[in-house]
Amino acid sequence: MTKFSAPLATTAHPQLQELREILAQVNDLSSASALLHWDQATYMPAGGAAARGRQLATLSRLAHETFVHPRVGELLENLRDLESEVDSDGFEAALIRVTRRDYEKAARIPTEFEARMSEHSAIAYETWTRARPANDWNLICPTMEKTLDLSRELASFTPHEHPADPLIDDSDPGFSAAQISALFSELRDELVPLVREITSQPPADDAVLRGHFDVKAQRRFARQVVGDFGYSFERGRIDATHHPFMTKFSLGDVRITIREDDAEVSSLLLGAMHEAGHGMYEQGISPIYEATPLAHGASSGLHESQSRLWENFVGRSPAFWQHYYPMFQRAFSQFDDVPMDAFLTALNRSERTLIRTESDELTYNLHVMIRFDLELQMLDGRLQIADLPDAWDARYLADLGVQVPDYANGCLQDVHWFMGAIGGAFQCYTLGNILSAQFYEAATRAHPSIEDDMARGEFGALRDWLTGNLYRFGRAREPQQLIESAIGGPLQIGPYMNYLRGKYGAS
Ligand code: ZN
Repeated sequence: MTKFSAPLATTAHPQLQELREILAQVNDLSSASALLHWDQATYMPAGGAAARGRQLATLSRLAHETFVHPRVGELLENLRDLESEVDSDGFEAALIRVTRRDYEKAARIPTEFEARMSEHSAIAYETWTRARPANDWNLICPTMEKTLDLSRELASFTPHEHPADPLIDDSDPGFSAAQISALFSELRDELVPLVREITSQPPADDAVLRGHFDVKAQRRFARQVVGDFGYSFERGRIDATHHPFMTKFSLGDVRITIREDDAEVSSLLLGAMHEAGHGMYEQGISPIYEATPLAHGASSGLHESQSRLWENFVGRSPAFWQHYYPMFQRAFSQFDDVPMDAFLTALNRSERTLIRTESDELTYNLHVMIRFDLELQMLDGRLQIADLPDAWDARYLADLGVQVPDYANGCLQDVHWFMGAIGGAFQCYTLGNILSAQFYEAATRAHPSIEDDMARGEFGALRDWLTGNLYRFGRAREPQQLIESAIGGPLQIGPYMNYLRGKYGAS
């Protein structure tokens, strides 16, 4: 038996071992923060808020200080020889490479700037919580101007072509503003006329999805479905919250949350499928990466591709409902006399709307691309903050054909620009949608029975293919490398547009 046949819990190299111990401490501090965040969003009484903010700030400071300690830099320097000797695709090389990149990134940002940015973010968020309900642009405008200055300053610490590049790279490593702009303008050119064609008809009636639906029954059904997908309850759990999310404290404890609403029947279920997609990605990461920077999904876009794949390609498909609709009818008697086709039409309804988070699969990317383009324009100085509302409204009219009635339903609707930097936060949603189609297509090419399996409530072949080609690698491979090796080619919009055209019956 060779020494590499067992999971690499420890390493023979003393400096790498020392690095791993420091990284495990950073990981433990971050996991403790994640647990406190999860608790805050699920069970914490309101009275805990002030102390919780302080506790989270303390943990995040300790994690940052531990990680950017000069000893980490020294170890990474000393490990260059080892890195060049070992297999470049192996665990040790990946660990050193990814840690070095994270370290260099973190060390470039002065501590003094971090403090200014986080102080301003707290003010910006608080101002937004007042400005949005009051529909008060003048209240938030000066705050947003400062956010933009700080976002540019943040970008300035990293060499770049476009000031959005470093911010994009933080969530989608390896992608640039220029590359994404080109991809998105291609998508927009195809999507705008398609949306116009489909939504020129009156939207399908979806009244059947509203009424009164027992929350316990909704929860039970969602648990059954995500358990069948392969989300492990041995290594996860589901709790209720306002804004659903997935979080992880270790590879053995990956939790998802749902929003409970007894007045609508599909959003809890689809939300659970979405978060379970994120959860299965994390649960599928190779256990040898535990407590290292490799034990996370490779990028926000790849993460979103998995939540979207399980939610849309599986959860909204006729094959899936062929198996689950009778069960659904037994759980919710309101559907006794509703044919499956009528239910599916309601579930896949499309309409041009003002709000991104309430938009459907067909129109969603138009909302995202508007934000992405405006971010680039703000960051490179083409668009002044004072002119943002007009630019926003003009794009909504041009792309979606809707008139924006006020700021609250316009450029103040999303929290993203008011809780941190402007830039880098939106592209992952559309990258994820495009990639979900490519991953699904590649998986069904490898296993043509996937759709038939689904119609029998079987998801093993799909899940195993995704685990083998994506999940297990964590961050050990770069996003672009994962994309190319899993789908056998570059990122492109063809499969996604084919999917949308097929689904919405476009000409
Ligand atoms: Zn998501």
